[in-house]
Amino acid sequence: MIRWAIARFARHDRIDAVVPVIAGDHRALFSNAVHGVATADPVLGGETRQDSVRLGLEALAANPPDFVLIHDAARPLVSGALITRVCSALAKGAHAAVPLVPVADTLRKKRADGWTLVSRDDLYRAQTPQGFRFAPILDAHRRHRGDPATDDMALAERAGIPIEAVPGEERNFKVTTADDFGMAEPLLDKGDIRTGLGYDAHRFAEGNHVWLCGVKIAHDHALEGHSDADAGLHALTDAILGAMGAGDIGQHFPPTDERWRGAPSAQFLAHAASLVQAKGGRIVHCDVTLICERPKIGPHRDAMRARIAEILDLVVDRVSVKATTTDGMGFTGRREGLAAQAVATVKLP
Ligand code: MG
Repeated sequence: MIRWAIARFARHDRIDAVVPVIAGDHRALFSNAVHGVATADPVLGGETRQDSVRLGLEALAANPPDFVLIHDAARPLVSGALITRVCSALAKGAHAAVPLVPVADTLRKKRADGWTLVSRDDLYRAQTPQGFRFAPILDAHRRHRGDPATDDMALAERAGIPIEAVPGEERNFKVTTADDFGMAEPLLDKGDIRTGLGYDAHRFAEGNHVWLCGVKIAHDHALEGHSDADAGLHALTDAILGAMGAGDIGQHFPPTDERWRGAPSAQFLAHAASLVQAKGGRIVHCDVTLICERPKIGPHRDAMRARIAEILDLVVDRVSVKATTTDGMGFTGRREGLAAQAVATVKLP
């Protein structure tokens, strides 16, 4: 969140410098978070938000700017347009410019005997960034040190600084709970999108059924292999491992290991999916192509998609199963064996 909040100011053409204020024990976290973002060295904050803001302002006092915007990193969705509105109000002569959003919900105040309706007319929520002329807001912070205020606007009012409102933005909400984070995350970051590719082939042998994409299909041959020889799930497992940079199926489930003799390949796939989950990621989509003359895949396609979706805990429209022949050419054309290719898309935080 702090990376996004800083980046939105750092790349704004009206902003000359960003001074982050952080907790002393967050130095390592901070430098990881802002890697590659233009920011000044962080200033160490104090016990309260107000102390932290004052210390941030003091850090600028030796080389004071004309104006300062004070922002909560807990509002990483601040837009460039909102930053511009605050800057423009100051440039046009405002002493202080504060984004305000009208209250849309019906308000109720709790009483001993129930809930009283409170008129929401003329009620607004104050957001950040709040912009000020630098010297007066620093002075207000120095004079009202230890005299708690919830934001800088409240402090400015105490100091007699006139406030001008600019339109805030619903999207610029404050992230304070896990629920808020859940709302902010998809708006913030497209994530780390990975694609992995998998390929597998198995030879036909004597038998009366094959396993393909987790579905048992009656056939005049079986597939030869250490496990259940499900080339479709093997290719898909490798695709997911590939997206994670986590080696290949043979490393995770060595064919020399007796534990995997005749094993259902669903467990290999589930293992690959668990690696994604362990990193806080999710599988976005997967696509398997089975390459064979026989058995016919079409009649089993829906069952295969459903089974893969079940193993990966995905909705079915994120799973694709296709089939092709090689027009009689090569080992699949001669019906010596069957091959499978797969692509998996994974999103990591
Ligand atoms: Mg295999």
